[in-house]
Amino acid sequence: MKPDYSGRTVSTGAAGIRCACPRCGEGPLYQGLLTIRERCTVCDLDFSKLAADDGPAFFIIVVLSAFVLPSAAAVEMIFRPPIWVHMLLWPPLLVAGAIALMRPLKAWMIAQHYRHVLSTPDAPR
Ligand SMILES: [Zn+2]
Repeated sequence: MKPDYSGRTVSTGAAGIRCACPRCGEGPLYQGLLTIRERCTVCDLDFSKLAADDGPAFFIIVVLSAFVLPSAAAVEMIFRPPIWVHMLLWPPLLVAGAIALMRPLKAWMIAQHYRHVLSTPDAPR
């Protein structure tokens, strides 16, 4: 007999950081780098109804822009480096930051979708 996870609440932040199932908080959400599993291996939640859409990309753009653009402007004003220094410095930082933030932000958005839409009693099944 499987345990009942219906009344359990998992923090959406914790589910995002751990990249875990939004209902039980234990099963892995991903199968590979960014592919969502079909079902939770622990509580059998159907992940096919959960979607992050473009939300993670929006937050990544906002967060990275808020950090990288002022940093690039500060480096330019303080050191006045040639343009190739900027070309070597900022694009790899943007790519690495986007890759590092995509998994937890996508998991967080999916947990938010589950928490606010699919876990309610009148949610579409
Ligand atoms: Zn689960």
